Amino acid sequence: MYAEMKAKLSGVVPDFELKIKAELAAEINRLKTEKNAVILGHNYMEPALFYSIPDFVGDSLELARKAAQTDKDIIVFCGVKFMAETAKLLNPTKTVLLPAKKAGCSLAESITAEDVRELKKKFPGVPVVTYVNTYADVKAESDICCTSGNAKAVVDSLGTDTVIFLPDEYLAKNVAKETGKRIIFPTMDPRKTSDEDLDYQMVGWLGRCEVHDKFTVEDIANVRKQFPDVTILAHPECSPEVVAASDFSGSTTAMIRHVEKTNAPHYLLLTECAMGDNVAAANPDKDMLRLCSVRCPHMNQITLEDTLESLKKNQYIIEIPEDILKRAARAVERMIAIG
Ligand code: SF4
Repeated sequence: MYAEMKAKLSGVVPDFELKIKAELAAEINRLKTEKNAVILGHNYMEPALFYSIPDFVGDSLELARKAAQTDKDIIVFCGVKFMAETAKLLNPTKTVLLPAKKAGCSLAESITAEDVRELKKKFPGVPVVTYVNTYADVKAESDICCTSGNAKAVVDSLGTDTVIFLPDEYLAKNVAKETGKRIIFPTMDPRKTSDEDLDYQMVGWLGRCEVHDKFTVEDIANVRKQFPDVTILAHPECSPEVVAASDFSGSTTAMIRHVEKTNAPHYLLLTECAMGDNVAAANPDKDMLRLCSVRCPHMNQITLEDTLESLKKNQYIIEIPEDILKRAARAVERMIAIG
């Protein structure tokens, strides 16, 4: 295990740390086989975990697909709670484990099921598209889910003039730009919204990812001053201004593919820090710059130590009430059918 990890990560993770982590990873992989478990790892996992224990890695859409296909008894989700919940929605009879209790998400916490019900009352008959970065009860109030990789395709698939798109303000603005739709944002409490200016095609919400919200156009200008030939890739949870000032925008998977397929002198990823390390490890011939002031405090909760405990003690089990599960699963399955 150590030799494998060293070959991949010697330039990214210090050697003493690799030795400790390789031991943990070997023990996790042994238990994984013993318990007939599958481990799914999101692209934002730290490199030592990302390159050692997951059977599958990817973005939330890819991992949702893998979760839907698994025949293992236990799914351990190395990601945040809404992702583990999505795996449970697609595998209601299996045990789904999240290694850290508190791995939340600022976007998922920005909206409640009651907020969605109020929006539906205010905009009756308008279909609700919900980003997968939400909890199951919010998904249950939605017609269909989307990820950053398929948001435009999902909105287009509805074939309607109007859509409620929740909860990420920036993703909604970026999708509105792509689809040419006029977007409005009722206040955080839709019950208090006045009826002024309801000339809309898209209704958004003011949720934000606390990581992508930190990147600014000024950051981009500073990097370009030092590295004029850099290719900058921004996640669509960044503001539309940041996306416009970048060279490419797409989901984490789309960013990885773009780096693999192109040959720029330097790359800069505007997304969670750990992914820069993971992409650097997979592409040692490419120069990855880092603008790495923030790690997602939620993704950061998932460690090899906690994953080992999770497998040993069967913790923390994801449970979703039956009526919520059925309705939320429908919204996720509709999305998966679109691709
Ligand atoms: S990176 Fe942002 S969207 Fe992803 S889990 Fe962290 S807070 Fe949520």
